[in-house]
Amino acid sequence: LNNFVYTLISITDELKSHEENLIILNKLGFKVNGEYKKCSSMEEVIDTCHKFESMRDELEYEIDGAVIKVNSIAQQNILGSIAKSPRWAVAFKFKAKQAFTSVNKIVWQVGRTGAVTPVAELEPVLLAGSTISRATLHNYDEIKRKDIREGDRVVIEKGGDVIPKIVSVVLSERKKKNKPVKQPKLCPVCKSPLFNPPDEVAYYCENTECSAQIKGRIEHFASRTAMDIEGLGEALIDIFVDNGLLITYADIYYLNERREDIIAIERLGKKSVDNLLNAIEESKNKPFDKVLFAIGIRYVGAGVARKLADHFNTIDGLINASEEDLISVPEIGPSIAKSVNQFFINKINIGIIKKLKAAGLKFELNKSDSIQVKENFFTGKTFVLTGRLNNFTREEAGEKIIRLGGKVTTSVSQSTDYLIAGEKSGSKKNKANELGINIMTEGDLVIKLNNTVN
Ligand SMILES: [Zn+2]
Repeated sequence: LNNFVYTLISITDELKSHEENLIILNKLGFKVNGEYKKCSSMEEVIDTCHKFESMRDELEYEIDGAVIKVNSIAQQNILGSIAKSPRWAVAFKFKAKQAFTSVNKIVWQVGRTGAVTPVAELEPVLLAGSTISRATLHNYDEIKRKDIREGDRVVIEKGGDVIPKIVSVVLSERKKKNKPVKQPKLCPVCKSPLFNPPDEVAYYCENTECSAQIKGRIEHFASRTAMDIEGLGEALIDIFVDNGLLITYADIYYLNERREDIIAIERLGKKSVDNLLNAIEESKNKPFDKVLFAIGIRYVGAGVARKLADHFNTIDGLINASEEDLISVPEIGPSIAKSVNQFFINKINIGIIKKLKAAGLKFELNKSDSIQVKENFFTGKTFVLTGRLNNFTREEAGEKIIRLGGKVTTSVSQSTDYLIAGEKSGSKKNKANELGINIMTEGDLVIKLNNTVN
């Protein structure tokens, strides 16, 4: 590991200039980059930037630009800083480095969320100090737009970000046998049919058992806003999946049968294993809408899950609902309807739900979970939440309001009754002021919630 030092901060000595700073650092024995130049005009600064750019290939280290600094420390202090960046220094970024190579193959990868994205496997080429053999293609539309084909000669570029991209195809060198790539219809990992939501370019694998997405789906299931299983985080999920203890999230509820195996693998200690198993057991009390959110149907967030639970009451009601039935529910649009339908068409998903049912999770609305509250402050009023809250997230606060019969919307309008403004609330607060809408602080909200005994 090697480095250059650029700044000396001294409490006792008052330094006059950045240049003086570098000279002292050098004298003290620090490694100082000799490739700097004190300029006395803007023209000289520009010339110097271009000179550095032209010598970048001769340097023994990689650079992607030059930094222009105000030399006088006194002037630096006057200029000051905004957030994390000083006003007295600015970066000049060189043009991204490009190279020619060819596309050996276009492969499709499945991400943790099920999104299937194309990646170009390239003939390895040296670019900006590293060997490049892969480039992301983002989605099928990008391949079509740039008309990238297997076998093509292409220009690649590595900009500010680490991941290289294909800039263009050298069409003059295209061979006749290079045929356009097709969007796959099946998941490259599990061979399930892919789903392309309306108005989206991405294709998704919706199979809950797809091995490429197992970990991501289990993480979501166990997360705080879903089943809230304390102790079952990313690290443990990785271990359980890698050791075959979890194949889908339904297996979480059968981990108690594998207690001895878990203690053996993890050396977690009996106590923490038992704590985990207790947390799993406890999560079975989560209401139907949380379970519906946890199973991870695309577009079914916490709010949508609640609406579906309230409308259909049971999982079977939801499974049997047609797309038209779903669209007839207020605030459920065609994308959600299609996605819900698609999820339950998959036999594997139905199998997982059966397994969860057998484990004792709630798949119907409990009478006490449904909103049977007396008329109170929140009843029938519309709220908008903005800014950062300290006692809960905005989502959690919204949930409490809804459970008490209030309505939560995202934008301030004439029909808003109250804006609940946390810290750093900006434009929404201004708009509420303009429209003369009542503004509550987080403290006001907490008091109202506490006073509304349910
Ligand atoms: Zn798959």
